[in-house]
Amino acid sequence: MDNYASFHQRSIRDPATFWDSQAHRIHWHAPYDRVLDYSRPPFARWFVGGRTNLCYNAVDRHLEELGSSPALIYVSTETGQEKTWTFRELYREVNRMAGILRSLGVAKGDRVLIYMPMVPEAAFAMLACARIGAIHSVVFGGFASVSLATRIDDAKPRVIVSADSGSRAGKAVPYKHLLDEAIRLSKHPPEKVLLVDRGLAEMSRVAGRDVDYAALRAEHMNDEVPCEWLESSEPSYILYTSGTTGKPKGVQRDTGGYAVALAASMELIYCGRKGETYFATSDLGWVVGHSYILYGPLIAGMSTILYEGTPIRPDGGIWWKLVEQYRVTTMFSAPTAIRVLKKQDPALLRKYDLSSLRVLFLAGEPLDEPTARWISEGLGKPVVDNYWQTETGWPILAIQRGVEPLPGKFGSPGLPVYGYDVRLFDAASGEEVGPGTKGVVAINGPLPPGCMTTVWGDDARFVSTYWSSLPGQQAYSTFDWGIRDEDGYYFILGRTDDVINVAGHRLGTREIEESISSHPNVAEVAVVGVTDSLKGQVAVAFTVVKDVAQIETPEQRTAHERDIMRVVDEQLGAVARPARVHFVTALPKTRSGKLLRRSIRALCEGQDPGDLTTIEDPSTLEQILAAVRG
Ligand code: AMP
Repeated sequence: MDNYASFHQRSIRDPATFWDSQAHRIHWHAPYDRVLDYSRPPFARWFVGGRTNLCYNAVDRHLEELGSSPALIYVSTETGQEKTWTFRELYREVNRMAGILRSLGVAKGDRVLIYMPMVPEAAFAMLACARIGAIHSVVFGGFASVSLATRIDDAKPRVIVSADSGSRAGKAVPYKHLLDEAIRLSKHPPEKVLLVDRGLAEMSRVAGRDVDYAALRAEHMNDEVPCEWLESSEPSYILYTSGTTGKPKGVQRDTGGYAVALAASMELIYCGRKGETYFATSDLGWVVGHSYILYGPLIAGMSTILYEGTPIRPDGGIWWKLVEQYRVTTMFSAPTAIRVLKKQDPALLRKYDLSSLRVLFLAGEPLDEPTARWISEGLGKPVVDNYWQTETGWPILAIQRGVEPLPGKFGSPGLPVYGYDVRLFDAASGEEVGPGTKGVVAINGPLPPGCMTTVWGDDARFVSTYWSSLPGQQAYSTFDWGIRDEDGYYFILGRTDDVINVAGHRLGTREIEESISSHPNVAEVAVVGVTDSLKGQVAVAFTVVKDVAQIETPEQRTAHERDIMRVVDEQLGAVARPARVHFVTALPKTRSGKLLRRSIRALCEGQDPGDLTTIEDPSTLEQILAAVRG
């Protein structure tokens, strides 16, 4: 194989020829007649006219060679369930689920919303949707009713697949009441709700709407449901992600481009091989779960571990125990999880036989050098940082070990991945900047296969949000600051917008503000992301209340803080709960009324609040400082 530099250059200079040479990695039911249609930038269509199916590539395609090899390995340290499905068994379950969905009226192009804990049925449902050409929209199980209602209203699913309950640290986390509330709030209620009953929590059922998975599965035991051959650009799924407005964006993914991009990345970035085991510790509700718990490993003919539980139950050695037990070769996690493990006994890292494991990949948030060193030295394995987003679906920056195993640099996710023409632009002038100068990380079009093709139902928003923020440039903005060194290695320096990253989970400060504002005693609120040694960032809220009589004593303030947190828990989910809610009498704003978020954040982090010439009332900053210092 050629070296990284020439490989990357070829992918940028002539994307069509490059991706044509990658497309053989998947099964095409009908060949494509054009590799790339970029006649309507920034909308790119890959493998035009080709027909394929994600489920076929993930499951059916392997039946002959790997039918009796493990495909899906489910481990729940929450319920004690541990079970493996071979490719043939997975095929059977997916066909049953596909049969059920069809019996509920789901047809090609219909949306199916999947609101599930980490259970195998969530994976069956995703694959079943792909099989019948339905568009899945998986909503992370940690989100609550308002988050869910927003997504229901945007995706307008015909069916929702859900369960009675998740489980966290051995305690049931019931789902059904949140789902019922979301449906009550929504303007587009689903026709049917398919419920997996794990027996963890009581659930009420709505007659005529709610149906039972186990009962329907028994009816559809022998169903064989043919794959729907989708044109390459037809959507496979929608995945919502937070932005700068209160309304999450539905990232729309295609079918053929995504399959090719994942298949290529499995070899060229993750170096996974057929018959081996991949273990990504994320959740199916996030993009890593879509790409590298489910589709990527299965497309590559690998078995994949679906893990429900925390990294420290029954003890901090659980993940390494699984590596030994299932001979995991490739592992994918997030820096926060490693920082959690850092607080455990380091001997746990050496307790199990890790000889099968080649590399630990980490992504989702900045990887600090001490954490990277600690885990790499502790395991005696290389750690590879990789940088990407829900929007791209697979890495933008990484050391591509399957192309050329170049050395990594601590603090850097590495070099632009083939297919990505990564640039840095000055935010104000739009001019491109060179090595050593901070700029906005952007990608010149076309985005490679597998990246978002549009915002679901809103092409204009795709263009205005992502492609129009840099003066004079039509380039895709990642909304991350970055810097490149003389060797071409990138370093990510944080977001340019109001998106925050809590333990690798992306949250919009506006969404949290909207939720807090719905509390009856809140007049005004500002939420900022503040650096945190464990979670990378946490949300901190500053609120102005309507009735100060309710927060006079410290006890009242504590109770009020808890009550505001409860509102966020119920509406958005505990993931979005601010770490602190402070009370002030006014927020720092410019004379034109713009909230000075950056200054608030700087003060929270003990830094200089920056240019304050436009501030209306400087005493508001003193209040912020006093609140933070407690
Ligand atoms: P999400 O779409 O939830 O995956 O979040 C994507 C965002 O997480 C990026 O835009 C970055 O801000 C951040 N991010 C992801 N991976 C990395 C990484 N390896 N290093 C630094 N930041 C990262």
